[in-house]
Amino acid sequence: MNYPAILEQIHRDIQPYLGTGRVADYIPELAKIPADRFGMAVVTAAGDVHRIGDADERFSVQSISKLFACTLAFQLIDDELWSRVGREPSGTAFNSLVQLETEQGKPRNPFINAGALVVTDVLCRRFVSAETALVEFMRRLTGERTVDYDLRVAQSELANAHRNRAMAHFIASFGNLEMPAEVVVDAYCRQCAISMSCVELARAALFLCNGGVVPATGERILDSSSTKRLSALMLTCGTYDAAGDFVFRVGLPAKSGVGGGIVAVLPGEMAVCVWSPGLDSNGNSLAGTLALEWLTTHTGQSIF
Ligand code: GLU
Repeated sequence: MNYPAILEQIHRDIQPYLGTGRVADYIPELAKIPADRFGMAVVTAAGDVHRIGDADERFSVQSISKLFACTLAFQLIDDELWSRVGREPSGTAFNSLVQLETEQGKPRNPFINAGALVVTDVLCRRFVSAETALVEFMRRLTGERTVDYDLRVAQSELANAHRNRAMAHFIASFGNLEMPAEVVVDAYCRQCAISMSCVELARAALFLCNGGVVPATGERILDSSSTKRLSALMLTCGTYDAAGDFVFRVGLPAKSGVGGGIVAVLPGEMAVCVWSPGLDSNGNSLAGTLALEWLTTHTGQSIF
């Protein structure tokens, strides 16, 4: 596959779309990122790295952290997770509170905020510092010791976490948190504030293309069955309330974040990450989704 030529072509064709969409502005640290940034990286299972544009620039991973937090929770409690979180698309916004009431505090899936808070609770219960455990995990997956969370973003997240706090306390009222709600929200905000580049995120997701094993080191992250399940969750629940349209257009399991990043995987072949901060009305990167759609069109490769 001639990834360099395909990335060049995508980079050329995407130019008119850069700066379109709306940059997340619920905290100043995200609002000030120029909307016209664009980076894309493909890392193949064989270890080749292809990059274009701002692929080495770190950005706020935001909800993409939910994918890796869920991986860690899977490692710790495996199928026990499903007694506390569902695995259905929610059909409501990522930060919605409404379903929680009728569904007795059991969030629909681990990729909406409510579900991610329960996942973070699992990590908080088992690690002295959940966010440090996640940062360490990301360092291990990428081989990059400088990966960290951005303290300013984390503090801003915390100062604006009214809805996430409300959600955590609501879940706690149903008995579905083991740790104090404030501890969980604190760790959740810090995990959202992790900064990584497209190359780093594509590398980190590579175990999902390889049956749960990091190709470069041979380290097993998940068994093949859990890897399949996590990828299935990405497909059905990974791109906010637009997962149907996203998979229709792109055809890959993916997880997006309001920082403008999207990481996607093609089992057996490659992991890809794209970053462009302008978001569509569902909160997915507008240019990023388009770039991934073109990638699967030009390569003729998707999971279908
Ligand atoms: N920190 C954001 C929140 O919890 C994450 C949003 C996202 O990327 O979906 O509201």
